[in-house]
Amino acid sequence: MLKILQPRTFAHQALALAGGVRERAGAPVRSLYIHVPFCFHKCHYCDFYSIVDTRDRQEAFTARLCDELAALAPLAAGQPLATIFVGGGTPSLLRVELWERVLACLRQHFDMSAMGTGEGEFTVECNPETVSPELMATLRAGGVTRVSIGAQSFHAQHLKTLERWHDPANVEKALLLARAAGIGRASIDLIYSIPGQTLEEWDSDLRTALALGLTHLSCYALTYEPNTAMAVRLRKGEFVPSPEDLEADMFEHTLRTLRGAGLDRYEVSNFAARGEECRHNLAYWRQEEWLAAGPSASAHIGGVRYKNTPRLDDYLELRTPEGFAAVVDVEGPDARRALGEMLWTGLRMREGVDAGAAMARANALDAATAARLDKAIARQVAFGAVVHDGARWRLSDEGFLIADRVAVEMLEAVDG
Ligand code: SF4
Repeated sequence: MLKILQPRTFAHQALALAGGVRERAGAPVRSLYIHVPFCFHKCHYCDFYSIVDTRDRQEAFTARLCDELAALAPLAAGQPLATIFVGGGTPSLLRVELWERVLACLRQHFDMSAMGTGEGEFTVECNPETVSPELMATLRAGGVTRVSIGAQSFHAQHLKTLERWHDPANVEKALLLARAAGIGRASIDLIYSIPGQTLEEWDSDLRTALALGLTHLSCYALTYEPNTAMAVRLRKGEFVPSPEDLEADMFEHTLRTLRGAGLDRYEVSNFAARGEECRHNLAYWRQEEWLAAGPSASAHIGGVRYKNTPRLDDYLELRTPEGFAAVVDVEGPDARRALGEMLWTGLRMREGVDAGAAMARANALDAATAARLDKAIARQVAFGAVVHDGARWRLSDEGFLIADRVAVEMLEAVDG
């Protein structure tokens, strides 16, 4: 039975921190993230919230999601959504008739007009095994403009290492089905630095992706997140991780190869032809606002960050009277944290950080913070990791190789 708990623990408490629904009428939120938690198998490197659902909760999830979307809609204040991103999990695992309900719910509660004009961006993550003509046609009819396909590798043995279950040949088939349905934009995710992977194999993954005519690629180095099966297997000595210098070579090779093909790096791990950048992710990295729906989905509204409960049963059972979800990890507006985030995410982007705006924020905190930040930037400029062109701070190509280290130094300068 659905439990209605005290509102204090829920999203509208977080929204109240952000200024409240009514007060926000003049500043609509233009981006929306939806998390679909279902997967048909748990990949060993994955630390996203996803479950292999043995209890067929897709229908209950869809009903609850639509309920939550209706509650969130006033925050968009009737203005057209600019970006929607449906991630997971495996959104393409949701049954077609349930997708139809989600898309109808979006149309009912939000202004989706920008999705029809090319100004809006509506991305759905897909697993190559679960893409069908029917699903693609449904998504296109519902306004979807872009698919992001989890390819990871075109080598079956490396997919096996990752415990990723799909046939590499199905990536091309999925792309063809999306294009045939009229979904014009596509990206794939690739992983490098997989144990046993050679530079030649990585090169062939990149070239296969380019041969598919892709204009956006996300390339991630394999990381061993705590509590993943990969991390456990590593601890047990089941494989030897890829050497650090090989990972660095792969990283540099990626930049050279993709730049040569007209895909420039616009964020540490993301490459695109001009105009093909993922606008939804840019909204995250530029610290804009976005709504979030679904279990474990994170929102950023009015400087407040919070996350929906990361457990499907809780998501299904707990709601406010308005329909908001139970939330965890609520962080109120914090000028110091916001400056740290501006530097952390800004320096990871090609466009870099507005130097004047960052120093103004640092000065507004206190003179000591501004002096520390100024010194830290000067040190990285002298070192060659950061380029200061007068208006913006940007990482150099060498700086991108040590992006995390540079960002940590900036955070330390901000935190004192
Ligand atoms: S398909 Fe994606 S979300 Fe699902 S387990 Fe694999 S990596 Fe995680």
